[in-house]
Amino acid sequence: MTVRASFDTHDIFNQSPPFENVDLFASDRALRDAVAANGAGAEAAALSAFGKRWGTAAMFEAARVANENTPKLKTFDTKGFRRDEVEFHPAYHAFMRESFRDGLHASTWRADGKRAEAPSEVARAARYYMVAQVENGHMCPITMTRACVGALGVEPALLEKLIGKIVSRTYDQSFRPWWEKDGITLGMGMTEKQGGTDVRANTTTATPTADGYTITGHKWFMSAPMCDAFLVLAQAPGGLTCFLMPRFRPDGSVNGLRFQRLKDKLGNRSNASSEVEFADAFAWRVGEEGRGVRTIIEMVQLTRVDCVISSAGMMRMALAQALHHTRHRTVFQKKLADQPMMRTLIADMALEVEGATALMMRLCRSFDLAGGSASEAARARLLTPAVKYWICKTAPGFIYEAMECLGGNGYVEETMLSRLYREAPVNAIWEGSGNVMCLDVLRALSREGEVARAALADLVKSCAGLPGAKEAASFIGETLMSADGEARARAAVERLAMLAAAAALAEGVPSAAEAFARTRLATARGGTFGTADLAAPDVATLLDRALPAA
Ligand SMILES: Cc1cc2nc3c(=O)[nH]c(=O)nc-3n(C[C@H](O)[C@H](O)[C@H](O)COP(=O)(O)OP(=O)(O)OC[C@H]3O[C@@H](n4cnc5c(N)ncnc54)[C@H](O)[C@@H]3O)c2cc1C
Repeated sequence: MTVRASFDTHDIFNQSPPFENVDLFASDRALRDAVAANGAGAEAAALSAFGKRWGTAAMFEAARVANENTPKLKTFDTKGFRRDEVEFHPAYHAFMRESFRDGLHASTWRADGKRAEAPSEVARAARYYMVAQVENGHMCPITMTRACVGALGVEPALLEKLIGKIVSRTYDQSFRPWWEKDGITLGMGMTEKQGGTDVRANTTTATPTADGYTITGHKWFMSAPMCDAFLVLAQAPGGLTCFLMPRFRPDGSVNGLRFQRLKDKLGNRSNASSEVEFADAFAWRVGEEGRGVRTIIEMVQLTRVDCVISSAGMMRMALAQALHHTRHRTVFQKKLADQPMMRTLIADMALEVEGATALMMRLCRSFDLAGGSASEAARARLLTPAVKYWICKTAPGFIYEAMECLGGNGYVEETMLSRLYREAPVNAIWEGSGNVMCLDVLRALSREGEVARAALADLVKSCAGLPGAKEAASFIGETLMSADGEARARAAVERLAMLAAAAALAEGVPSAAEAFARTRLATARGGTFGTADLAAPDVATLLDRALPAA
């Protein structure tokens, strides 16, 4: 396309070129280092091909279109019969097809439903991180599909029936019974009107029948409503229980899911989130009656990791956009990227992304190794809520700061930063909001105190010689173990995540570890980015690593 730079009234100059047609892997040193440090270096060429495809202008444009054309609920047909279908824009389906083809919904599972070998978590996370830089809405069913397998593991016969359809690389958008489809997606419904955190307050009931259960009640949030089946919680005679509710009953008739309306959301707009009633809906029990929370938590841990990957990915894209723009934009006869204060600001942001990326990948490495290593399993258990807390909470403010680097252009819809900004808070809110994550860290310490303390000691060992690490560990231990630990937990959990980030950097990117520990553990950075005390050589290294200069 020819761009006309000369108008009758003025010429256009000093605007940055679009940031597109980039290799999202090759241009991201922090990602490349984290992938290599966590055992997936052999995937580099494949990841680069993936990064090139997802970094095209066509992908960015499709993401805009998918989010501007939001899904529509079709409750009834012309004659008044119930349809309970949601129509998505073709761009959304195209993203689903892409992510399915690369196995983002299932590559961490083998065809028998067991965990795939390492480094499947790390390799998938690298791809997810790049997808999150482009389009997040469609990743909701992708995330839930892969995570549900974790919970279905307690019902081997049911899992065996479904797993072939789950691990299929073919996205099938048709509204048909799951057994007729080439590939299926899974969602979940826990949150009710009276409670999302406190799911034990669920009022939806489950009555045993000859071939399963009949579920009656509602869910206040149930995302990706065109999934082929949903893990739901309901009160059975033996207490709160997990179920799998398919869209079609075993006899082929449409199941009793009655969608009431779709949420009008701040972000995540390419994806639908429904309010739904269950009218005598058929479901299979998953796990024992009364063990619903215990069963579904296997899924929740995995969705929490995806929240982390998604938020880190969005931070990365915001950083790249900010750096790219400031390298092209001149103010007061000098490129913004050469102005001392802007350099400190973006370097400080780049350091945050270095920490977030290394930490996110190290966490995925723990999931890769947890099956054969008690210490990695303990690390995953303790750190998942802490990392979700820190990274998902950092992302919205971070993206706002990146937006400001683009000035007024950052605030308008044509740049993707406004979309990322609206998208970011959901990762902190759902699947355990901030306070709930801190309570979960406290729970890990009280229930599995010895292994959790050993995991903390491991982090300190990795941070040997880094400024502030020992003091941070003492603060975390003393605060969380103190009598008023719950009241003070946020400060300690934030520090725990930062200590873990310093440890991950020390293991994988030693050059950034010292600056990270010095500015985030040894001294308190100010409340905004750009307030860290960074020396000029550190600034230069961080900016260079963040994005190669064109
Ligand atoms: C876009 C979107 C999609 C969603 N999709 C789904 C879905 O597919 N399936 C599903 O089941 N749910 C879904 N949810 C719901 C989401 O998981 C819940 O909103 C979330 O779990 C919080 O529950 P709640 O809204 O009832 O808030 P509440 O439980 O009322 O919590 C409100 C606040 O209180 C805090 N809090 C809770 N307990 C404590 C405590 N003991 N001490 C201190 N603070 C506390 C929480 O951290 C939170 O900040 C979705 C939400 C959104 C926004």
